[in-house]
Amino acid sequence: MSWKSIQKENFTDIEELAAFLELPYAFPLLKKSKFPLNLPRRLALKISKNNLEDPILRQFLPIEDENRHSGYTDPVQDASFQKTSHLLHKYAGRMLIVTTGACAMNCRFCFRQNYEYSSGGDFSKELEILSQDETIEEVLLSGGDPLSLSNRRLRILLENLAKIPHVKRIRFHTRFPVGIPERIDGEFLTILEKCPQQIIFILHINLAEELDPDITSALKKIARLGIPILTQTVLLRGVNDSLEVLKKLFLTLVNNGLIPYYLHQLDPVQGAMHFEVLLHKELLEALHAELPGYALPRFVKEEPFAKGKTLL
Ligand code: SF4
Repeated sequence: MSWKSIQKENFTDIEELAAFLELPYAFPLLKKSKFPLNLPRRLALKISKNNLEDPILRQFLPIEDENRHSGYTDPVQDASFQKTSHLLHKYAGRMLIVTTGACAMNCRFCFRQNYEYSSGGDFSKELEILSQDETIEEVLLSGGDPLSLSNRRLRILLENLAKIPHVKRIRFHTRFPVGIPERIDGEFLTILEKCPQQIIFILHINLAEELDPDITSALKKIARLGIPILTQTVLLRGVNDSLEVLKKLFLTLVNNGLIPYYLHQLDPVQGAMHFEVLLHKELLEALHAELPGYALPRFVKEEPFAKGKTLL
């Protein structure tokens, strides 16, 4: 079955998901949301039945708490850094292409859930801006999730980036393989292999339980091409805000050849404030004491106009 067919099987109907997970009849469901339910079956199968507190479920189920607290629609001030609606220039030497608004899943804590995505396009304007700015050595492919693009569109984009001599690195930010590892198909691997620039993957993952052997084996196919895979985690209340859960996650990652890169404080986005938990000294010190250095991510938060991530 192709990844696109698998994606079509995602849960998008809350009643259907509630029945599948045997959720209690009267749960605090968010009836209307501009950011709809979107959950791959693979992840749904990892959720325990009749348990609203399940940490995977909490990341995807729209609940009333989203309307209880205020936050920002654009917490990291993307709008201030737009060169075009598809191109952001925030940090020195790097630009980020917002490739698409589509994702394999809709995470309730997503800081771009209110972004005004524009669809389609061949990124010609963005490629022209990139080619004219010789200070740019790295291009980040983000979104949404860049692996939502078809292989054809990704191939054309990477071929065009390969024509820009000062671009030395291309970084994919993705959560797609966590939901649909079948996305790492032969054609995609060939596209990566042919890319002359160094590619780096940043996998977004919040729990050890999100991983499984299909996912790690798909990621190993990428790693075999000489592509480093680092990971990024958001600290979320009721999901992974304990020493035990984070320790298990980071050790599981390194046991599978994945390097923990960032542990992020939540971006204060409207709709996700019930997930907020501040990174605190005791938790960071305990992680530091219990993990080998290579399993310890950098603890960071994003401050809108800082020159880089703020280390905590
Ligand atoms: S996969 Fe990433 S971009 Fe997509 S909804 Fe989740 S956090 Fe947002």
